[in-house]
Amino acid sequence: MAKPQAPAKLRYKRVLVKMSGEALGGEKGYGIDLGVVAPIAKDIAKAAAVGAEICLVVGGGNIFRGLMASESGMDRATADYMGMLATVMNALALKTAIEREGQSARVLSAIPMPTVCEPYIRDKALDHLEKGHVVVFAGGTGNPFFTTDTAAALRAAEMGCEALLKATQVDGVYSADPETTPNATRYDRLTYGDVLKQDLRIMDGAAIALARDNRIPIIVFSIKSQGSLALVLQGRGSSTVIADAARG
Ligand code: UDP
Repeated sequence: MAKPQAPAKLRYKRVLVKMSGEALGGEKGYGIDLGVVAPIAKDIAKAAAVGAEICLVVGGGNIFRGLMASESGMDRATADYMGMLATVMNALALKTAIEREGQSARVLSAIPMPTVCEPYIRDKALDHLEKGHVVVFAGGTGNPFFTTDTAAALRAAEMGCEALLKATQVDGVYSADPETTPNATRYDRLTYGDVLKQDLRIMDGAAIALARDNRIPIIVFSIKSQGSLALVLQGRGSSTVIADAARG
C-alpha cells in the first residue's frame, strides 16, 4: 500500500467519488478503455497517498443501462440487474488499475458474488477505509429502479463522508453547455434547492435529496484534468460546490 507522502492540508479527509461508466469508455463512450482508466486510477492513488480516505462508486452506462433496455421491451427489473452487474466489471477494472499504481483497493458489491469480490458489509467497508485501502462500491444499491448516483449518496452517508465528489468531463456546473456555448459561466456555488428547482441534472433527484438530508456537500469537478482530485480535496482547483446556502 502506498504510504502517505506528505501531510497535505486536506479540507476533506473522507470522500466518496462518483464517476459514470462513460468516463471509462474513452472516445467511444462504451466498453472499458484501459488507457483512460489508468490516469484516473493514478489520480485516485495520488489522492489516497496524501492521506485521504477514498470511496468510489462507478456507474455502468458504458456497458449497459437498464432503462434503455426496458424501453426496448425488456423487463425493467431484469435489465436493471444487468446494469448493476456492469458496474462490477468497471469496479474490478478500477481496482486493478489503482493497485497497479501501488495503492491497495477493495471491491465490495451490493450484489454478493463472493468468488469475484467481497459482499458489501458496512463495518467491513469502514474497516478497509481506516486501514488506508481505497474502497470501490460495486453493484449500485443492489436494487432495481435506482441509479448509481443514488448509490453514491447512500454510501457517502453510510461511510460518514465529508463530501460527495461528482466526477464529470467539465470542471463544474455551467449556465449552459460549455462545449457549445463559449460564454457559458461556471457556478462556484449552488444550493441543493437550486439544483432541484432548476432541474440541473447533475445527479438524479433522489441522490441530491439524500445528500441534502445528510448535509453532504456535492462537489462537481473534472476527472479529465490530471491532479484535479487532489486539488479538490484541499479545497482548491475549479469546481462547483452544491451545499446549503450557509455551508460548504
Ligand atoms: N442500477 C440499478 N440500481 C442501482 C444502480 C444501478 O438498477 O442501484 C442499474 C440501472 O439499470 C442503471 C445501470 O445499473 O441504468 C447503470 O448505472 P447508471 O445508469 O447509474 O450508470 P452511469 O450512468 O453512472 O454510468
